[in-house]
Amino acid sequence: MADEKGFTLWFTGLSGAGKTTISKLVGEELRTRGSKLEILDGDVIRENLSKGLGFSKEDRDTNIRRIAFVADLLSRNGVPVITAAISPYREIRDESRELMGERFIEVFVKASVEACAERDVKGLYKKAFAGEIKEFTGVSDPYEEPLNAEITLDTENESPEESAGKLIALLEERQLISAAQPA
Ligand code: ADP
Repeated sequence: MADEKGFTLWFTGLSGAGKTTISKLVGEELRTRGSKLEILDGDVIRENLSKGLGFSKEDRDTNIRRIAFVADLLSRNGVPVITAAISPYREIRDESRELMGERFIEVFVKASVEACAERDVKGLYKKAFAGEIKEFTGVSDPYEEPLNAEITLDTENESPEESAGKLIALLEERQLISAAQPA
């Protein structure tokens, strides 16, 4: 679509908060509406673009700057993007916001450490609490909550479908995607 508007839904939240799950649901919905979408998932990026980087503040910042760089390239060319990485530091998220300006939409995927540990999707919290993983966000490494996110998804109190629906509604409201065709 020639007039497609690029944007970046910048997800931030703890491991297990729901970033990957929600990004996939939004992706499916956009595809059924004929829109493009590229998902830059933190775990996937760390296996290729950021392979070899660790979890020190410096490496985390490098990882996030790379993700922001790619998100900017895509979104400025009209490709909608979701970044789904923890992105724990406010300063680097704000840097990404500055880079992309109005195309940047910060999405706080919110769930407490306790809730994420209870889910323990990847079994990482158990290891982190046992001291087997150093620098684990929310347990032994900082997570700085957003102060001015455009939207907060409370994944402890809403279903993945509800969270994805809220994002779709926001995109419609901002006229970044077209409304669904009536069935
Ligand atoms: P992340 O990508 O943030 O590490 P995941 O998407 O891999 O998190 O895992 C989130 C887990 O939480 C999944 O098991 C998912 O089913 C569950 N969950 C419960 N409620 C929600 C919600 N509203 N949004 C997203 N995930 C949810």
